[in-house]
Amino acid sequence: MICLGIEGTAHSIGVGIVKDVKGKCHVLSNNIKTYTPDKGGIHPREAANHHAIHIADVINESITKAQIDFSDIDLVSFSQGPGLGPCLRTTATAARALALSLEKPLMGTNHCVAHLEIGIGTIDDCKDPVLLYVSGANTQVIAFAEGKYRVFGETLDVGIGNCLDKFGRAIGMEFPCGPKIEKLARKGEKYIDLPYSIKGMDIAFSGLLTSAEQYMQKGEKLEDICYSIQETTFAALTEVTERAMAHTEKNEVLLGGGVASNQRLKDMVNIMAQERNASFFVPSQDLCIDNGAMIAWLGLLMYKSGIRMSIEKSIIDQRFRTDMVDVSWRE
Ligand code: AMP
Ligand code: MG
Repeated sequence: MICLGIEGTAHSIGVGIVKDVKGKCHVLSNNIKTYTPDKGGIHPREAANHHAIHIADVINESITKAQIDFSDIDLVSFSQGPGLGPCLRTTATAARALALSLEKPLMGTNHCVAHLEIGIGTIDDCKDPVLLYVSGANTQVIAFAEGKYRVFGETLDVGIGNCLDKFGRAIGMEFPCGPKIEKLARKGEKYIDLPYSIKGMDIAFSGLLTSAEQYMQKGEKLEDICYSIQETTFAALTEVTERAMAHTEKNEVLLGGGVASNQRLKDMVNIMAQERNASFFVPSQDLCIDNGAMIAWLGLLMYKSGIRMSIEKSIIDQRFRTDMVDVSWRE
C-alpha cells in the first residue's frame, strides 16, 4: 500500500509518500515548505495562505521524487489536529480535494501520535517507547497504555520550542531561535540559576523565560544564559521522561519534534537511558520535524487496522488530544 500524507498544523506544509514494506515504513519522498514570518511569531492566517499557495507544488514534487504516478496512491491522509485552525483547514481541504479527485480513501490523523509512530515505523529496534515530543507548540511525554497513547507529562504553558523562540525574539534573534541558542550555549561557561518548575509530571517554562530575560537586562553573558536555559529546561524534560519510563516500566525512549535536533538534549536523554539500561532512539532529522511522511505512515496504519473516515467526518480539531485516539492498530 502507498499513502500520501499532508502535514500542515503550523509553520510547515509537508507532503510525504510512504509504502508499507513488511510492516515497516519505507519513505519514498518527504518534501516540506516552511513559512517564516517577517517578524514576530507565526500568524495563523498568513501561514495558511502560504500553505495554500505552495501545496500543489509540494504535492507534485513529492510524486516526482517518489517516482510514482498519482494513480499509484492508495490512500490520502492529513493532519487533523492539534494545530492552528486556518492551517489545519487549508491542509484538510487540499487532502479532501486530492482524495476525491483520485477516488481514493481519506484519513485524518493526530499529529502527535504521528511523531511517535514514525519512530516505531522507521527504526528497527524501536517497538514500545516513551516518546519525549519536543516541538514549537507541543511538549509532551507520551507512551502506550491500555489502548491509547497516554500523556504522562506535558507543558502547562508554552512548548519548549516556543520558549526558546520567545527568548530569542526578545533579544532580536530571527525565527527559528532554537538552533542559534544551541550554538551560543556551547560557548557558555557559567551556570545561572533559573527557575526549575515541575509540578507532578508537568512542566512550566514561563517563569524561566522571564528570569532569563531579566538576566539579559542585568548584563549577564548571552552565552551563559543560553547554556543555562538549555541545561535547566532539558534537565526538567529528561526528569519527567525518566519518571514516565519508571512508571510504565518501558525500556525504550524516543525523541521527536523540532527540538529533538538539539545535541545537548539528545546527550542528556541518552545518558539517562544508559543509566537505566534502556535504548535511546531518534528518527532522522527530516522525520523529527513536522513532515508529511509521518502523517502518511499513521494514515496507513489506521487504514490497515480497518478504520475508515468519510469526508463528513474529516472535520479538523484544533485541540485534538493525543489520548483521544483509539489505537486499534496495536495489540
Ligand atoms: P516543530 O514545531 O516540531 O517543527 O519544531 C520547531 C521548533 O524547533 C522551533 O521552535 C525551533 O526553534 C526548534 N528547534 C529547531 N532546531 C533546534 C535546535 N537545534 N535546538 C533547539 N531547538 C530547535
Ligand atoms: Mg510537531
